[in-house]
Amino acid sequence: MEKIVAADVRYPDLAGKRFNKRFTGKPEYIYMPQSADEVVDAVQEAVNSKRRLVVRSGGHCLEGFVSDPAVQVLVDMSLMTNICYDTERSAFSVEAGATVGEMYRRLFLGWGVVLPAGEHPDIGVGGHILGGAFGFLCREHGLAADHLYGIELVAVDASGKAHRTIATREANDPNRELLWAHTGGGGGNFGIVTRYWLRSPGAAGSDPALALPKAPATITTFRVSWEWKDITEAIFSRLVQNFGEWALQHSAPDSPYKQLFSLLFLNHRNLSKLEIKGVSTAGAKANELIMGHLNAITAGTDLICTPQIEESPWLRFALNPFPELFQPGFDNVQAKLKDAFFRRPFTDSQIATIYKYLNTSDPVGGGLGMATYGCQVNKVASDATASAQRDCILDVACNTGWGNPEGEIASLAWVREFYQELFKTSGGVPVPNEQTAGSMINHPDTDFADPKWNKSGVPWHSLYYNGNYSRLQQVKSKWDPLNIFYHALSIRP
Ligand SMILES: Cc1cc2nc3c(=O)[nH]c(=O)nc-3n(C[C@H](O)[C@H](O)[C@H](O)COP(=O)(O)OP(=O)(O)OC[C@H]3O[C@@H](n4cnc5c(N)ncnc54)[C@H](O)[C@@H]3O)c2cc1C
Repeated sequence: MEKIVAADVRYPDLAGKRFNKRFTGKPEYIYMPQSADEVVDAVQEAVNSKRRLVVRSGGHCLEGFVSDPAVQVLVDMSLMTNICYDTERSAFSVEAGATVGEMYRRLFLGWGVVLPAGEHPDIGVGGHILGGAFGFLCREHGLAADHLYGIELVAVDASGKAHRTIATREANDPNRELLWAHTGGGGGNFGIVTRYWLRSPGAAGSDPALALPKAPATITTFRVSWEWKDITEAIFSRLVQNFGEWALQHSAPDSPYKQLFSLLFLNHRNLSKLEIKGVSTAGAKANELIMGHLNAITAGTDLICTPQIEESPWLRFALNPFPELFQPGFDNVQAKLKDAFFRRPFTDSQIATIYKYLNTSDPVGGGLGMATYGCQVNKVASDATASAQRDCILDVACNTGWGNPEGEIASLAWVREFYQELFKTSGGVPVPNEQTAGSMINHPDTDFADPKWNKSGVPWHSLYYNGNYSRLQQVKSKWDPLNIFYHALSIRP
């Protein structure tokens, strides 16, 4: 297989492919394998030549795990995009280089099914599913990893030999623990996943249309926004309280509201407005659910609530959800995201902190996003998959982005101090306790491993994996004993 080096016309495009422009790598060369055997060759060559190697699929890593100047060999999976139904395993086979959007398209057009996965169609399946992966349909169908049946992995054994292996969730599969580790352990830990097999737990028989959840025929979107100039601190507090309270009341596994997913964007005043965007798959009942939700969120605030409600075919939505969110420029941003899982709503003191940071005079963009969580996600036991957080009602993220290098210092300071103050009673991070439950590894934050920002005494790995970390370490020791695959927040053998 050809090495793509700096003189190659493809190199600048490939070396520069990443969502978060905050990080830049400069690999000596890039491999673009077209088969699992070629992945084995690429890994073997890097191991033999003692070069640091890393794998990239969609390039949507939020930290610099891939775009790292220390990386010498980049294995780019984007030519491995095959998606088909594998009759031998009665499961869909999805190669790691496919994007989430392409997976939605093929699963829908081919069989009318869906994998509940992430919101942005350009995310790579490769680094996404193994981090758990939540999205618009998670309250109705759980995480993407909950539907993972098997993986094909290229790993390196204790003698330094690269090899392919298959792991499934079958009770008698000797590699079952390896599969388990890929249901939330996160990317870049054990080897290179070349393909995933998808089949929902409990799906029986060989009919592909029954192997994964049926896709919704249509999806109803809703949007509301309010100008900051119309928002007092009292209104703001009530809105945020209402949203948290609503999530607490309506996130049980079989809540009728499992067919509704909602995002509250508490933007910095610099961005002039607060917004709610969401979706429902309840068809004829969608409007009722949406209005029930919005009335509860705005109760007692005097805010006028005239949502824009639209129905569209599922695939059209999935391939371009909320276009205004992902508009031009969005993919040319430098960003920092600090995520947290919540078991219970914000306290009044936390709401006051949020209000304060959204109203600073800093020249920053960003805010705090609250995403509804739970329902079917919470039907699964905490150790049944490596995605441990199974009793949460909200996923919350403080975020900021900047387009020019000058923006970096102010933006980073603002988002870090904001987050630290939000969790000031627990050392600056959402430690597992009655209210919070750590964070998701698909939204990694290297500050968790920095004592300046994590003063809790709770190590970064407990924040991501709660009680599942030692089991993940055992898998790591067995499957990557030489620690060939590592990054700032990788599982230590
Ligand atoms: C705009 C945007 C929207 C997002 N929305 C969501 C969302 O709705 N839900 C959600 O859960 N997450 C979301 N994420 C986070 C996303 O799921 C993770 O960043 C994910 O790891 C991206 O996978 P990738 O293949 O695109 O990234 P990459 O940058 O290619 O890889 C990310 C990590 O996974 C590793 N990796 C990549 N491919 C493989 C492979 N084949 N085998 C083993 N390891 C691999 C990499 O080495 C790296 O450590 C979003 C991120 C962005 C930037």
